[in-house]
Amino acid sequence: MDTILTGMRPTGALHVGHYVGVIRNMVALQKSGAECYFFLADWHAYNALIDNVDVITKSRYEYVKGWIAAGLDPKISPIYRQSDIPEVLMLNQIFQCLTPPGWADRSPSWKDFINNPNASRLLDNVGFFAYPILQAADIAIVKGKRVPVGADQVAHIELAREIVRKFNRQYKANLPEPEALLTTFPKLPGTDGGTKMSSSIGNVISLNETEKSLQKKVNKMKTDDQRGGVEQPGNPDNCTVYDFHKAFSPSNEVSLINESCRAAGLSCGECKMKLGGNMKDILMPIAERFNQISDSDVNDILSDGARKAKVRTHATWEEIKSLTKF
Ligand code: ATP
Ligand code: MG
Repeated sequence: MDTILTGMRPTGALHVGHYVGVIRNMVALQKSGAECYFFLADWHAYNALIDNVDVITKSRYEYVKGWIAAGLDPKISPIYRQSDIPEVLMLNQIFQCLTPPGWADRSPSWKDFINNPNASRLLDNVGFFAYPILQAADIAIVKGKRVPVGADQVAHIELAREIVRKFNRQYKANLPEPEALLTTFPKLPGTDGGTKMSSSIGNVISLNETEKSLQKKVNKMKTDDQRGGVEQPGNPDNCTVYDFHKAFSPSNEVSLINESCRAAGLSCGECKMKLGGNMKDILMPIAERFNQISDSDVNDILSDGARKAKVRTHATWEEIKSLTKF
């Protein structure tokens, strides 16, 4: 059976974009009985936050609590820190030597950084440039095959596949060629209507929002700016609230909202109350569980997870050493 591997950078709040884009798949895959590895990509976070590592430490707790509150069971699959697994960095070194710089240069994250004059200057480092190579090592060291990710990571997983393929050819090896696995919402927009919810932009609804703060954020979301008033028809295709309904409301209700909005039968205020209600139903039980998990629970989960993950990573590294004769 295919092995599943996915990681997230502890770089701020765990938010509902992560939830609908990746975590829903992580939970479903674990429930399906697949062998899964879940890790905190703290070396990847370091590329972006070298001047602010406190954020990484703080987010570590938030991410693990959020994953477990959302339904992951750390007894079934290891949850670990990337930085607890030295074999990842050793394999990364081999992969770096197999990867022409032009391949890394194709990384969309690097291109975004180069083309965005407002991007943080902290990203101007070779670690960030080469991070898709480290991702390839993250996946290959556990022999991962399917990788739940959001839409922005698909190109990176393709690059990882090329690197693994090259390694397999060079050393007559048989590492699985990784594939991206998307949910039906691989890119949730931000509350500001921006194309992607992201903690670095600050347009997020976090996974442990209170009822009050959740509804407040929903109320501030942009609706169809062409709609003249409640008595005029609106266009759901031009509305952030409708995008969120698609991700959080039952499908029969989504169709009804679409029709009523177009027929001027539903005000934006009512529509936001409906969305807030549906999001509360999903998120409040998660927030409640989140708040019951202590930092010391997280420390125990991570040390246990590292111990379990190392069984696999150590075995893969031994194979790689013998194949590469290094
Ligand atoms: P943030 O900027 O909020 O920290 P990120 O893109 O840095 O988000 P990562 O930790 O790098 O998040 O990625 C974790 C996973 O979550 C990736 O697979 C990414 O594609 C996915 N993801 C992040 N934001 C969204 C979103 N708004 N919608 C869907 N998936 C997302
Ligand atoms: Mg992040």
